[in-house]
Amino acid sequence: MRILFASAEAIPYWKTGGLADVARSLPDALAERGHDVRVIVPFYRLVRGRQLPLEPSAELDVPWPGDPIRTRFLLHRPAHGAPGVLVDEPDFFDTDDPYGAPYGDVLALGRRFAFFCRAIVTYAKAWGADVVHLNDWPTGFVPVYGLLDGLEAGTVFTIHNLPYQGNFPPALVPQIGAPWDLYRPENGFEFWGQASFMKAGLALSARLVTVSPTYAAEIRTPDFGAGLDGLLRFRHGVLHGILNGIDPRIWDPRHDRALPRPFGVEDVHLKAENRAAVLTELGLSGDGPLFVAVTRLVEQKGIDLLLDAIGPIVHRGGCVAVLGSGDVAYERALRDAAAAAPDRVAARLGFDDGLARRLYAGGDFFLMPSRYEPCGLGQMIAQRYGTPPIVRHTGGLADTVIDGVTGLAFHDASAAALLSAVERAWSAWRDGSIDAVRRRAMELDWSWDRSAAEYEAVYACARGPGSG
Ligand code: ADP
Repeated sequence: MRILFASAEAIPYWKTGGLADVARSLPDALAERGHDVRVIVPFYRLVRGRQLPLEPSAELDVPWPGDPIRTRFLLHRPAHGAPGVLVDEPDFFDTDDPYGAPYGDVLALGRRFAFFCRAIVTYAKAWGADVVHLNDWPTGFVPVYGLLDGLEAGTVFTIHNLPYQGNFPPALVPQIGAPWDLYRPENGFEFWGQASFMKAGLALSARLVTVSPTYAAEIRTPDFGAGLDGLLRFRHGVLHGILNGIDPRIWDPRHDRALPRPFGVEDVHLKAENRAAVLTELGLSGDGPLFVAVTRLVEQKGIDLLLDAIGPIVHRGGCVAVLGSGDVAYERALRDAAAAAPDRVAARLGFDDGLARRLYAGGDFFLMPSRYEPCGLGQMIAQRYGTPPIVRHTGGLADTVIDGVTGLAFHDASAAALLSAVERAWSAWRDGSIDAVRRRAMELDWSWDRSAAEYEAVYACARGPGSG
């Protein structure tokens, strides 16, 4: 099958979170299964600066209000896996802040990703894609333009994070050449007086997927549906829950060059050297366990619960190390917590892949108290690196962490519930029973093979007769 995989971020071009991992590892897994797969992403300024070897793929007219825009599509062939197609249109993508509104102009942000969507449709037609696989709101308008431009490929839309919706004032509609007759609540993209990319994708794609079975059920309820649960209940017959995977070659503690001492399940005692090294790197010391987190610092991730847990952990002699970036208030609170106990708490604010790996390898426990979690990759990576995750039982975390078996889980979104899981983790650490949990966690197989096969079945449905 010829599959065009569309995403606003993908390794090795640009990454803010798990979507970029998925947009590399799922296409690669599909390519390994014999499909012809390309990953289409915008050619942002920060990608241009990376000097990747690129060759021309096509030069095509992308329909746009006024005149079509002649656009270059550049091909990047990585050493392994699916090639990338970079949409080179500086008027929209010459930015170091792809999800930001240029000079506060939200409509310009809407135009950026609407153009991306129309370029995806144009390229998919020229390349002869059988399926266009869309991911999250920046790709949501593809089925709208697909209707306008006669796209024959089937459309599959994966929800990675439902509350991030790309909703814009209706003034955007004429600016992006979208049809007013689809600006309607039923089978259209109108959403409470706004033009919604997410809603366009959900209402008009042939098939919908979200990234874990539990989240697929949760988003059909008002608590998790972010206002779109009614539409998702209506479309439940075409909604699938397929668990994300991780690429075992990218996340492999045996061959991870960022680690001072690579290790596997057979020589897991070497993990202690990574622990000692990361404690030294961060200037930490203590008698208790080291709790680590690698995360976007946003409400979704339960950072408030994590902050409330730091004091009691430190009081008992444990250490906490957090690597993350995001909301200024959380960054400040973490910095304050680290300043109050510099030998027990480390806050590293920013994006640092190497330090992330050393934390996954050196931690005793990985904290992930998310309020909601579509799938989550952090807990899977932590398991692979022998760091039992302590997670809230929600979404993909509920599907990947079995309490007391492959990690620890708690239910209430409260610091007290988190702390009682921390307490249980601590006693398992003290009496050594955590070793069996660690071993089982490391032996879990989160590779993409099974999920890639499930996606193949969904692609077949999306192409089928009457698929929309
Ligand atoms: P989300 O996609 O919601 O941010 P996931 O757990 O699915 O959360 O994926 C997060 C990915 O981003 C993981 O690969 C994690 O290691 C990485 N990550 C998150 N924050 C940072 C950071 N500050 N530095 C390095 N890697 C990070």
